[in-house]
Amino acid sequence: MIFSSVSPAKTGAEAWFEDMSLSLTAISRQPGGMRREIRQAVRLAEKFNREFVRPRALAMDRRLQEDHDYLPLEWVEEANRRGFFTMCIPRMLGGRGVCFPALSYFMEEIASECLGMANVIGAHYLGLGTLIVTWNMPLMARVCDEIVSGEKSGQACLVSLAMTEPTSGSDTPEPELLDKGTVNCHAGKVAGGYRVNGSKLFISNGHFSTWHITVAFEDLKRPADSGVVLAVKTGSPGFKIGGKESKMGQLACPASELFFNDCFVPDDQVALCADHTRGYHRTGRQIYQRLFDDLCSISRAGICALSAGAARGAYQDALAFAAGASGRDGALINAEWVQCRLADLYRNAVMTRLLYVETNYANGLYGVYRQLQSKPAYYALKYLPAGLSRRLTRAVIQQDRLTRFMRRMQLDRYNAAQVQRTAGMAALAKFAGSDLAVENCQKALEIMDRAGLRHASGAEKRLRDAKLLQIYEGTNQINRLDLFRHLIGRGLPQVRLHEDAAGRSCDHGKK
Ligand SMILES: Cc1cc2nc3c(=O)[nH]c(=O)nc-3n(C[C@H](O)[C@H](O)[C@H](O)COP(=O)(O)OP(=O)(O)OC[C@H]3O[C@@H](n4cnc5c(N)ncnc54)[C@H](O)[C@@H]3O)c2cc1C
Repeated sequence: MIFSSVSPAKTGAEAWFEDMSLSLTAISRQPGGMRREIRQAVRLAEKFNREFVRPRALAMDRRLQEDHDYLPLEWVEEANRRGFFTMCIPRMLGGRGVCFPALSYFMEEIASECLGMANVIGAHYLGLGTLIVTWNMPLMARVCDEIVSGEKSGQACLVSLAMTEPTSGSDTPEPELLDKGTVNCHAGKVAGGYRVNGSKLFISNGHFSTWHITVAFEDLKRPADSGVVLAVKTGSPGFKIGGKESKMGQLACPASELFFNDCFVPDDQVALCADHTRGYHRTGRQIYQRLFDDLCSISRAGICALSAGAARGAYQDALAFAAGASGRDGALINAEWVQCRLADLYRNAVMTRLLYVETNYANGLYGVYRQLQSKPAYYALKYLPAGLSRRLTRAVIQQDRLTRFMRRMQLDRYNAAQVQRTAGMAALAKFAGSDLAVENCQKALEIMDRAGLRHASGAEKRLRDAKLLQIYEGTNQINRLDLFRHLIGRGLPQVRLHEDAAGRSCDHGKK
């Protein structure tokens, strides 16, 4: 692929300054109320950890190792009861209206105790986030309504993102790779909707979810030009949830197989297809790329937040161990090598936190959160009486004009240089954060020695859980290439990407 993105107006030192001083720019623009919200979200997570997760995490991990078909529904019910699945749904759609950046801090806190539990919540917002970046407002309102009703009734309504296929993983969000790989999930246009055939796997929360935001293709030979995003509901004829993966970590969050066999998806559940963007300046593949750049800008910040939790948890495990243990020459904490190692662990935890905070600033300044975080919108959404704001929303949200306007702004008339900044920062945060998290888990085990290898220590579970952070939301290799594409290689006309990926296709042994 010839590197084709638009280079930013500024270059050299100026561009570096703009890229690397996001907090400096954001801090004066950010509504003051956000800090309070973030603090409250962290308290909520701390309470959940203390009362629910900490006393159960290790026993649940052991149980799921012994019986990998078990579905820990009671964890989903508890999170639902505490309002975690509606937490970031805007008040105008019936949710609790906590700002999206607060979700990262919240997730970090839960991940510091159990990455599996944190991913149950994270994967739900990943599914919802995918729907948001299609800007299909009526569908978004309908799904949010059901999540809110699910909280009231006690029957949790979760959302999953179904993208990965038996023969396509890294390829799916990358148009250039998609064309060189193999996909199987076909969406055929029929009267009144689409008929879907194919399968997906490794779908987090598949077994728990009511809605599956599914990426399929009208033309399997030209997938990047024919992507369709569909909202498929559990129970639809032709849709089946298959087995659950037996994986190494994050066992509380099931990774599921999904099957589509002539599954009909009506027009009002088509989140985005070519008909919706006819007449745009951008081509189908540019819109597909834009959609996933937007999604990854927010979801990869989320993975970095999970990584920050794992990195901090590992540091705390090691500190507690070193403080209580004695070595050959006295208290372990007084050994210089341990003090140096603890300093490294502390550094990694702090750096991981800073990476997602900075990425969220990028999203607030230039990305998906921009509209919601402008001060007038933020305070209107916060302080307008909930009933009134819901009535007003209902009046406008069903109007086609609103969806068309939002889509035009977000998918057609966007500023490519700004996308490079949000997506580039998110890719950096994802691979750097998850690498640091795994490094911390390993370093903590070194300090703890054989005590850390015992299941009861929690440290070996943390390492098994953290390893997965390097794989999902694009493997860390793919994220390195994305950092190159968005920030390092921009403006260099000789740069080409994915040249050596020709003919590559993966086989997960489940065709
Ligand atoms: C626990 C877990 C939960 C998941 N949850 C979800 C979910 O909710 N929804 C969903 O849709 N998917 C989910 N996935 C799937 C995940 O997104 C994919 O596993 C991931 O994108 C990698 O794809 P793959 O496994 O097919 O690896 P492959 O794409 O086969 O990659 C194999 C190796 O080749 C490397 N590679 C591939 N292409 C290139 C290239 N062009 N250049 C350099 N290196 C390359 C990769 O980095 C990797 O090391 C989940 C996965 C896991 C493990």
